[in-house]
Amino acid sequence: KALPDTTKLIVHVEVCQKPCSTARMSDVKEHVMCLLGTVNSCCSNFSITSFDDQFLQEHVRSVAICDLDLLDLKVGEVIYLSNCNIRIHVFQLNEDGADHEELDGEDLPAANHWLLPSSDFVGLWDSLIYDSSIKAQLLQYASTTLLFSDKHVNSNVVAWNRVILLHGPPGTGKTSLCKALAQKLSVNLSDRYSYGQLVEINSHSLFSKWFSESGKLVMKMFQKIEQLVDDPNSIVFVLMDEVESLTAARSASLGSTEPSDAIRVVNALLTQIDHIKQFPNVIILATSNITGAIDLAFVDRADIKQYIGPPSSSAIYKILQSCLNELMRAHIISPSENLLDLKLLDTNLKVLEMMGESAENNSMLLSHRLKKISERCEGLSGRTLRKLPFIAHAIFLQTSSVNLDVFLDALSQAADRQF
Ligand code: ADP
Repeated sequence: KALPDTTKLIVHVEVCQKPCSTARMSDVKEHVMCLLGTVNSCCSNFSITSFDDQFLQEHVRSVAICDLDLLDLKVGEVIYLSNCNIRIHVFQLNEDGADHEELDGEDLPAANHWLLPSSDFVGLWDSLIYDSSIKAQLLQYASTTLLFSDKHVNSNVVAWNRVILLHGPPGTGKTSLCKALAQKLSVNLSDRYSYGQLVEINSHSLFSKWFSESGKLVMKMFQKIEQLVDDPNSIVFVLMDEVESLTAARSASLGSTEPSDAIRVVNALLTQIDHIKQFPNVIILATSNITGAIDLAFVDRADIKQYIGPPSSSAIYKILQSCLNELMRAHIISPSENLLDLKLLDTNLKVLEMMGESAENNSMLLSHRLKKISERCEGLSGRTLRKLPFIAHAIFLQTSSVNLDVFLDALSQAADRQF
């Protein structure tokens, strides 16, 4: 068997099989391969949802070429699929949503549990926009981890953990990125694991209770998680949001009359994490809103401590562009206009500048205005930015349909209002 050519680009193709379909994965792959044979080249992600092929019509919802944006292509660069290593991932979506795990006698749900890939997280990965290679790095990290586990590399010899910590200011997409990563890996690893699971631990509800109770809660929770991990055909992601509540628990213990309780909870948790990360099919994802040096025993356990900051102006441009495209799709902004990709806009502007001319076509003028607004929005979090078009409409417009030019005025005012 020929070895894959490592000089070739890897292109991931995600094939969403219909929920009712029982077709074999190998058959689906074969038909998708034929379909891809008809796609000569591409320069950005795209998805095919209607097919001439009878088999695909019957069994497949969509075929999507993914993550080309992570390859950092140059303006105008095209990819020829015939020159690439194509990786086809066939999966079926789980439509059930989250299961709220309540521990006996507790009213607060202690954890949410999803079967992956879940319809709840469709599109989440693509909606998160970062400048640097954060997303690509997280994927590479996770695949190395799973490869090492799979091949039984002795972790006493080559040390690695299964803990990823994302930290940074609130609203920068850390929690969403963890969920999206879990979904992405479940899809990418569909050959290896038949399904994925995501357990989101509600740190607050664990620590809001009396500390002495919390110790027991932690144990119970991890007993449940261990049951999930026992299935070797499943990959389990454990998401612990806002792990700084651990530190809070510790410092609270300093002022409390019974300091040992909080320490005991935190220790119980750390011990449990150390225990479950022995399993080859587990990845622990954690987020923290504390940006500085987080002094936590937890941090020592993380292999990857990735800072996630507020988006730069070019990421802001993409976020706002995606919002505006959505409003055009919904005909709230009408007529539809073509907003250029920022790299293309910048290249065009440079060319015009060299020729001593100024932009005159509509796409360029509108894109240029959006660029100016994006520059002014620097410092706002991703969460605020995604709300901005709504605020613009609610406060400054209130009409059922406007053109993009008018909408950009409102967007600009809404942006000013944020500061
Ligand atoms: P955090 O966990 O950092 O507080 P969340 O994951 O709760 O942030 O993010 C909230 C929402 O903000 C996300 O669902 C997403 O819509 C938006 N968001 C935040 N950062 C970004 C980003 N870099 N790109 C696109 N959307 C973002």
